[in-house]
Amino acid sequence: MTKMEKIAKRIDSYRNEMIDMQIKLCAKPSISPAIGGEGEVEKAEILIDFLKKNGFSDIEVIKAPDLEAPSGYRPNILGFFKGKSSSKTIWIMTHMDVVPPGELAQWRGDPFKAWVEEGKIYGRGVEDNQQDMVASLYAIKAFHEEGLEPNYNIGIALVADEETGSE
Ligand SMILES: [Zn+2]
Repeated sequence: MTKMEKIAKRIDSYRNEMIDMQIKLCAKPSISPAIGGEGEVEKAEILIDFLKKNGFSDIEVIKAPDLEAPSGYRPNILGFFKGKSSSKTIWIMTHMDVVPPGELAQWRGDPFKAWVEEGKIYGRGVEDNQQDMVASLYAIKAFHEEGLEPNYNIGIALVADEETGSE
C-alpha cells in the first residue's frame, strides 16, 4: 500500500469514532456570550483531551478575556504535530463557536443532540465548523497511528468567537 492508501484506510476506520466526536462536540453549544451563550470552554475541554491523546505536542490554551462569559474568557487552542522539518508549519484553523439554532420548530430533532440520517450528520455546528475541525484532527491522528511523519510541522488552531465579531 502507498502512504496515501494507508492514511485513507485508517481514516475510513475512524468513521464511528468521528461521528461520536461530532455528537460530543455538538452537545456543547459554544454560542457567544454576546448572544446569550456560554462560550467555548466545555467544547475546548473535549478537544484538548483529544490533542493530548493523539500525538500532538506543545498544546497551549490562549485565554482571550470576555467578561460576559461565565468563565471570564474564551479559549483558543494551539497544538502541533511535528514533521521531518520544523522550517515550516502548515496551519489548519477552525473555530469552536456556533450560531444559535434559530427557530426550533424548523428542526426535526434537538439541534444539540446530533443524529445521523441517510449517511449525513444533522445538528447545530456539525457543518460549520465541526466537519472541518473533526476531519483535520482525525487526519493527523491517522498520521500518528500509521507512524508517518509529515514533511513539515502541522499546526492546529482551534479558535473562539468566529461567528459574532471576533473581538
Ligand atoms: Zn463558521
